[in-house]
Amino acid sequence: MPLQTTEDFQDIREGVRALCASYDAAYWREVDERRGFPETFVNALTEAGWLAAMIPSEYGGSGLGLSEASVILEEINRCGGNSGSVHGQMYNMFTLVRHGSEAQKRDLLPRLASGQTRLQAMGVTEPTTGTDTTKLKTTAVKKGDKYVINGQKVWISRVQHSDYMILLARTTPLSEVKKKSEGLSIFLVDLEKAIGNGMSVRPILNMVNHETNELFFDNLELPLDSLIGEEGKGFKYILDGLNAERTLIAAECIGDGRWFVEKARNYANERIVFDRPIGKNQGVQFPIAEAHIEVEAADLMRWRACQQYDAGEPAGASANMAKYLAAKASWEAANACLQTHGGFGFACEYDVERKFRETRLYQVAPISTNLILAYVAEHLLDLPRSY
Ligand SMILES: Cc1cc2nc3c(=O)[nH]c(=O)nc-3n(C[C@H](O)[C@H](O)[C@H](O)COP(=O)(O)OP(=O)(O)OC[C@H]3O[C@@H](n4cnc5c(N)ncnc54)[C@H](O)[C@@H]3O)c2cc1C
Repeated sequence: MPLQTTEDFQDIREGVRALCASYDAAYWREVDERRGFPETFVNALTEAGWLAAMIPSEYGGSGLGLSEASVILEEINRCGGNSGSVHGQMYNMFTLVRHGSEAQKRDLLPRLASGQTRLQAMGVTEPTTGTDTTKLKTTAVKKGDKYVINGQKVWISRVQHSDYMILLARTTPLSEVKKKSEGLSIFLVDLEKAIGNGMSVRPILNMVNHETNELFFDNLELPLDSLIGEEGKGFKYILDGLNAERTLIAAECIGDGRWFVEKARNYANERIVFDRPIGKNQGVQFPIAEAHIEVEAADLMRWRACQQYDAGEPAGASANMAKYLAAKASWEAANACLQTHGGFGFACEYDVERKFRETRLYQVAPISTNLILAYVAEHLLDLPRSY
């Protein structure tokens, strides 16, 4: 199959751009300044059906693949917006579509497709164990017709703007499993029922305008049918979804990278210092050219990941490498853009500092760059496991 390119999916690109035109730089700046949630944008995107892209058509969605979903998120960021407010819904959907029971899918997917309900949150990370996910300490213990949840999570995003959350917890103690990746399970948590009844939420003020929280579980009771898939296989399900997540984040970074390159190019052509455009200086134009090359190269790996995922082929290697390359390229593009703008890069009204902060996140979340390098070293290069 020929590799897809930026020129593909023009109808989706034009549709998303048309919607984003109503949510311009001033809109995103205002949301950022008041540390708000882009509620009207998220509602408009949902009503236009874009967030239902990957829900199969029999459940009311468009039945599209990861390629199309990635184009939607890329375009939002390329237009100057921040897909961080919606991407959770895209990749959490994968987990439900691939591993949920028929009853869970019939109950939830049509409501997600129509926009009546949001599934924006995924609770994995914990304060004491961090990247060492299989050692997480939140437990789910079966008692009668309930699972009882105790523990703590950190950095769990969009909980305050979601109706449901996918939660990873340990159902079999670490000491009783053969492999540490076994004995973990995922649950669908109805947030309205949970908050105040065993689950509490503490927002974390952070560098980006990203709604994220600490969660505390104190005997939260979940019905047995909130388990997704088989008990004990949750880590495998989460990993499966992470390849989709990494590919989507790569596409967002490509969108950011293109926004930075274009913004820098325009400014370098317009800004006159020493009686000539600053872009005439190689010291100004070369970093922009370099950023362009790196963004376009990362895009090729993103398409490989999308196509492998959509074809049902193993996509772990390409998804990880796409995320690594794209996050690095968008960060380099952000630096070049800020430097090109000189002092004005720091002025909020130019939007560069906001996008600079937003794209920086992707070196750390949803997986840090070091852990991708460790994955490549171990799984692709057959080097000893480093942790
Ligand atoms: C804004 C924001 C939103 C987030 N949203 C979510 C969310 O919705 N759901 C969720 O579950 N999580 C979320 N996260 C958590 C995110 O996935 C983690 O922060 C990230 O995976 C890193 O984990 P950590 O912060 O615990 O870092 P740690 O595990 O403490 O690591 C700290 C540093 O040490 C490095 N390091 C650790 N071990 C090794 C090793 N063996 N080799 C080399 N380097 C190593 C890491 O790369 C990192 O740079 C979010 C985080 C942020 C900042």
